[in-house]
Amino acid sequence: MNLTIIGSGYVGLVTGACLADIGHDVFCLDVDQKKIDVLNSGGIPIHEPGLREVIARNLAANRLKFSTDVRAAVAHGDVQFIAVGTPPDEDGSADLQYVLAAARNIGRYMTGFKVIVDKSTVPVGTALRVRETVAAELAARGEEHMFSVVSNPEFLKEGAAVDDFTRPDRIVLGCDEDVPGEKAREVMRRLYAPFNRNHERTLWMDVRSAEFTKYAANAMLATRISFMNELANFADRIGADIESVRRGIGSDPRIGYDFLYAGCGYGGSCFPKDVEALIRTAAENSHELKILKAVSSVNDAQKQVLAQKIIARLGDDLSDRTFAVWGLAFKPNTDDMREAPSRTLIAALLARGARVVAYDPVAIRDAKRAIELDLQDEPEWLARLTFANEQMEAVKNADALVILTEWKAFKSPDFDSLKKGLKVPLIFDGRNLYEPDAMREIGVEYHAIGRGGAF
Ligand code: NAD
Repeated sequence: MNLTIIGSGYVGLVTGACLADIGHDVFCLDVDQKKIDVLNSGGIPIHEPGLREVIARNLAANRLKFSTDVRAAVAHGDVQFIAVGTPPDEDGSADLQYVLAAARNIGRYMTGFKVIVDKSTVPVGTALRVRETVAAELAARGEEHMFSVVSNPEFLKEGAAVDDFTRPDRIVLGCDEDVPGEKAREVMRRLYAPFNRNHERTLWMDVRSAEFTKYAANAMLATRISFMNELANFADRIGADIESVRRGIGSDPRIGYDFLYAGCGYGGSCFPKDVEALIRTAAENSHELKILKAVSSVNDAQKQVLAQKIIARLGDDLSDRTFAVWGLAFKPNTDDMREAPSRTLIAALLARGARVVAYDPVAIRDAKRAIELDLQDEPEWLARLTFANEQMEAVKNADALVILTEWKAFKSPDFDSLKKGLKVPLIFDGRNLYEPDAMREIGVEYHAIGRGGAF
């Protein structure tokens, strides 16, 4: 099939590359000329394991092209995937300007039947707005062409995106019941048939339910994290160990182990904005989502917990202190800095006069850009932030190590070198990577999340 992917970010690139890999002819469009230039020169603008190889393979096979040419993009694809960003608006609702701009372009240039697929995470009712936008453009041109808008939310996880896309747990497809909708359903059935060979993974539903499913999934995952974080803070107070509690409850199959880790708050491009957007959608429909409001405010507070532990131990004035920070990306295996807890924590340390030496295996470039933007009005703070090229280099002569992302390389570091590097053996761990007993044995003062207080 001829496919067009509008938006070549984390979702669009993975979708385009993986669909080209099963034989489709894919046109990836983006408005960002720099991104397209990088892609066309064989580079890749994001860190996503395995993606570079899939892109290279399909560029070589001529099944994948990258361009900023809107007219050519609309002409190319019988299916037009919209995979542009839906960042939070000022009031927390999803900003649909990029989605609607994509819809306008499709309406402006289409000359025949198109299946328009919303892959971006969009509030319930957006497919209807996309349909109205395309129809208005067609009307302005005085043309009539059949089209249908399908909701096909994406569930990939950054860091495992290629695997998630090629081996999905489920494919959610919301189609209309009308004639164009039936035609679109058949196209989507054929498109995803290779993913359904061993067992049927597609869940067919109405468009609004498909749109809602994506938000419900992220809201549920965020709820589990905030629930555990709230219990972890209480565990600290009463001297219980949240890791033991996690194993104790996760062993119940009704609960399960996944997404039960306490830490320094969820971040990333999805959970914070999707929880807020769902709360807003509810409010617009005169409905209050009380649990999700609590999930969000628990998370905001959780991003401060590690800083509070540092202040409780070292005092509010950190002006003669140097902190090594390991982990900047919001989670391992990505360079994504959107809503990363490291941004909050580093700002809190710099605001109290500290020096920070930060390290991340892949996200330093994006971290620099994000933090410089956050603190553009605080040049004096920024002057106290440096980046190390290597994890042990960061800890040299630091007063403490702070861990914010659970990269594999941080899980079993050489503790002798670590102790030699630090001025005093003091660790604040926002990801509970180590065992408190083991830390006590080797003489490290260890502060983690919900592990019964300091050891
Ligand atoms: P992103 O910011 O990485 O990529 C979006 C891309 O769209 C950018 O490259 C931007 O330049 C481009 N763009 C904007 N307007 C455009 C236009 N009119 N025409 C062409 N290109 C345009 O975003 P992302 O992380 O890939 O997320 C995209 C959507 O998918 C969001 O709605 C997000 O919530 C959802 N989603 C993201 C993930 C994830 O893990 N990142 C997972 C599932 C769903």
